[in-house]
Amino acid sequence: MSEKIERFETLILGSGPAGYTAAIYAARADLKPVMYTGMEPGGQLTTTTEVDNFPGYPQGIDGPTMMVELQQQAERFGTEVRIGMATSVEFNDEPGGIHKVTIDDSKVVEAHTVIIATGASAKYLGIPSEQRLRGGGVSACAVCDGFFYKGQDVAIVGGGDTAAEEASYLAKICNKVTMLVRKDYMRASKAMQHRVESLSNIDIRYNTEVDEILGDQVVEGLRMVNNQTGEKEEIPITGFFVAIGHKPNTDIFKGQLDMDGTGYVITAGKSTKTNKPGVFASGDVQDKEYRQAVTAAGTGCMAALDAERYLASVESAETVS
Ligand code: NDP
Repeated sequence: MSEKIERFETLILGSGPAGYTAAIYAARADLKPVMYTGMEPGGQLTTTTEVDNFPGYPQGIDGPTMMVELQQQAERFGTEVRIGMATSVEFNDEPGGIHKVTIDDSKVVEAHTVIIATGASAKYLGIPSEQRLRGGGVSACAVCDGFFYKGQDVAIVGGGDTAAEEASYLAKICNKVTMLVRKDYMRASKAMQHRVESLSNIDIRYNTEVDEILGDQVVEGLRMVNNQTGEKEEIPITGFFVAIGHKPNTDIFKGQLDMDGTGYVITAGKSTKTNKPGVFASGDVQDKEYRQAVTAAGTGCMAALDAERYLASVESAETVS
C-alpha cells in the first residue's frame, strides 16, 4: 500500500533568519508550518562567529547560538522543524492549487503555500589555505566580521560593487586595506570606484590574484601574484575578505519561478509574491543588495503575512463559488 502524501498549510524551505522568522509568524497565525532545514541548518550565520549587528543583542551573540534560539522560538509556537533538503518542486499555476515538493530525492510533500528561504551562498576562491582558515581570519562578510580587525591590516579580493562597498567599510575600521582586482579595471559602478580610490588607506592592486593566504591557525599574511608579470609579493595581514559574489540557492526552482539573470527569485513590488500563486520568497534568495540577517528576517515576516492573506483570499473565493 502506498504511503499517504502529507499536505501542509505552509511549507517553509530553508532555516536561516528568513525561514525562522517566517515560521514564527506563520505558526502564530495558526498556519501550522512545517520547515525543511536544507543542507546547512541555520544558514549562513552558522558559519559566522560573533553577530554584533542584530538588534536586541547588546553584547552580541555567536551565529550558531542565535540560530538555535530562533529555532526554539519558532518551535515554541508549533513549527515542525525537519532535517531535509528540497530537491525538486512542482508549483501549481492556479490560485488555490496544491504545490508539490520532493524532499531528499525520495519523499513528496504537498502544500497550499510555500515560503522559499533557501538563501544564497558566498562564492569562495576554492584554494586550500582559504578553506583551512575560514573562521580563523577568512570571511565572506566585511559588515559581519570587519569590526574584529579594528586598527589592523586586512585584504579583500574582488572588483564588483560588493568588494568596493566592503573595502570602503573596512577602510573606516582598519589601518590599511589591500584590494585585489584580477583585471586591470573594476566591475563596480563608477561611483563606487571613485569612493574606493578616494580613500587613502585602500591600496588597490590591479591584475593581482591570491597565490596563498599565509598562517597555520589564523591569517598572518597574504602572498599575491601579478597575473601579467608573474611577480609575487607577501604582505602581513590578519583578516582576509572574499567578495567575489554570491550564488542564490535557486537551482531547483529554475523553469518554475521567474528569476533575474543571476538566478535571484523575482518578487512582485514590495511583496514576497513570486509568479506562482501561493509561493513566496524571502531573504537572500530574492535580495542581492542588502543581504543582512535583519533584512532577511524582515522579509521572512512579510512572506508569512503574504501567505496568510493568500490563504484567506483563496478560502473566501471558495466560499463564494
Ligand atoms: P559581481 O559578480 O558583480 O562581482 C564579482 C567580482 O569578483 C568581479 O570583480 C569579479 O572579477 C571578481 N571575481 C570573481 N571570481 C573571482 C576569482 N575567482 N578571483 C578573483 N576575483 C574574482 O558580484 P558583487 O557581489 O560585487 O555584486 C553582485 C550584484 O549586486 C551586482 O549586480 C552589483 O551591482 C549588486 N550590488 C549592488 C550594490 C549597491 O548598489 N549598493 C552593493 C552590492 C552589490 P571579474 O570582473 O574579473 O569577473
